[in-house]
Amino acid sequence: MENCPTCAKASLEKGVVNGEVVFVCPHCTLWFYSSEVRGRLPSDEDWYTDPVSVAPQYIRSCLETMRPTFQRQITELNNLVEERQVLDVGCGLGFFLSVAASEGWETKGFEKNIHAANVAQDILNISITNEFNKILDESFSVVRLSHILEHVSNPLDFLSSAISKLRPGGISISIVPNVNSFSYSAITLIRNLATKSNRITAPMSPGHHILGFNRLSLSKLYEAVSMQPLKVFNISMGSQTFYPFFYDGLMTRQKITDFNLKTLLKYWLPLFLDNVGNGFGGGQWVVGYFKKPLK
Ligand SMILES: [Zn+2]
Repeated sequence: MENCPTCAKASLEKGVVNGEVVFVCPHCTLWFYSSEVRGRLPSDEDWYTDPVSVAPQYIRSCLETMRPTFQRQITELNNLVEERQVLDVGCGLGFFLSVAASEGWETKGFEKNIHAANVAQDILNISITNEFNKILDESFSVVRLSHILEHVSNPLDFLSSAISKLRPGGISISIVPNVNSFSYSAITLIRNLATKSNRITAPMSPGHHILGFNRLSLSKLYEAVSMQPLKVFNISMGSQTFYPFFYDGLMTRQKITDFNLKTLLKYWLPLFLDNVGNGFGGGQWVVGYFKKPLK
C-alpha cells in the first residue's frame, strides 16, 4: 500500500506508466510512483553537458529567442506583486532570471545541476546557490518553480521549504506537466479499449517525472502548505506566455523545418492537439499562481 505524498491518504493503483505502477490519491488526485521508485537516483543529471549547446554565443542566442516569452511572464508577476525580488528554484540556465534582471528585478537562482549553474553564473551573470539553507527566509516576493515539482520525491517538504523563502503576501508560480492531457488520455483510452492493457500514456517516468499533477492536485499541494490559489489553469504548446510553438522546454524554440514528418506527427502533434483540452483540464501543462497569506 502506498500513501499519497501530499495528504498521506491510502491510494489506488492507476496503471503502469513507463514500466512501473502509478498510484492515484482518491482525495487530491495526485498521481505518483511508489516511494521505492521515487527514491531512485534521477536519470537526467547529464543535462547541459554538451559543449556546443552551452557555448556562450549559442546561450545568448537562445536567451534572445526566449526573451519575449519570459517578458510576458514577468508582466504577469508585475501585476500581482509590488516588490521585485524573485527566487527561481531549479532555475536551470537562468534565462528567466536574466530577463527578470533586465526588467528591474532582484534575482536569485537555486540550481543543483553544476553545468547549468556554471552557465547561469559565468555567461549570464546570475547569482546562483546550491545551498538552499543559506537563502534567507521570507526574503522574496516571488518564488518560481518551473518544471520542478514533478521531479520531487517528497513534494510537501520540498514546497514547504521553498515557500519559507517567500514573504507574507508574496506569490509562488508553478508550471508542471498535466497528467490529464487530452491527447495522452485519448491514446490511453483507445489502447485500453483495443487491448485491455493497463498501460497508461502520461508524462511520467522513473528517475525523471515521478509525480503527475493536474489542476486539483497542484492546488491541494499548495493548500497543504497554507498557500491560497489565485488562478490555476491549463496551457498547451502555442501559449505565448508559457510555452511557445516548438519550445523544447529547456533552451530554445526550434523551427518546424528542423523536424521530419514522423517527429512532427508523433511528438509535436499531440502537444498541439492538447489546446483543445485547455478549457476543461486537458491541456498539456498546469500553471498555478498561489499567494502566501499575510500574517
Ligand atoms: Zn493526496
